[in-house]
Amino acid sequence: MHLPKTLIEGHSRFRRDVHAKDRGRYLQLAELGQAPMAMVIACCDARVDVSAIFDAEPGALFIVRNVANLVPPYEPAGKYHGTSAAVEYAATALKVPHIIVLGHSHCGGVDTYRRGVRDKVPEHGFIGRWLTLLDDLKLVESDIFAYGDEMAFELAAVRSSIANLKTFPFLRKRLEAGLLSLHGLHFDLGGGQLLSLEQDTGRFVAFDET
Ligand SMILES: [Zn+2]
Repeated sequence: MHLPKTLIEGHSRFRRDVHAKDRGRYLQLAELGQAPMAMVIACCDARVDVSAIFDAEPGALFIVRNVANLVPPYEPAGKYHGTSAAVEYAATALKVPHIIVLGHSHCGGVDTYRRGVRDKVPEHGFIGRWLTLLDDLKLVESDIFAYGDEMAFELAAVRSSIANLKTFPFLRKRLEAGLLSLHGLHFDLGGGQLLSLEQDTGRFVAFDET
């Protein structure tokens, strides 16, 4: 089966309208390597277009996407940790000064867990196991009151990923040295706005767009 026509045509437009007009930047990126300003841990959800949300240029963001934008705790003996490997590369090789966990509204992964239908996913599958990362989620009463149950889970998942990032020794070292900041954000698909996690209060507040 061929690729969908819309993708083939889209790539033609990219070559003609984007790459050809900005060839210098792409050549520079190819020669000099990447030096992203931030790492973003986002959901696989097709509606969460990270570069579009930040109007970011190629090379600006080092992005890892997984189901429900989760970060497992530091597990050196674990197997095949794709997200942890990306975090390690971003911090120790690229030395990014910022790591952003980007949650989003209407997250199917979080909702699967919330509605307790995780047990209905195939036993031999990966999703059920992956979503056990949400097992110790701490819901915040004021989130439920302000945003409802569904979003309270999504916000708690972002907090949990931030907490798990702090269990990585190489991140803790960079945090303590003031070389790294962690950020928790939540993107509203319908409204387009972000909420931002205040580190000192643990509350999500309107994103400062100034
Ligand atoms: Zn999602």
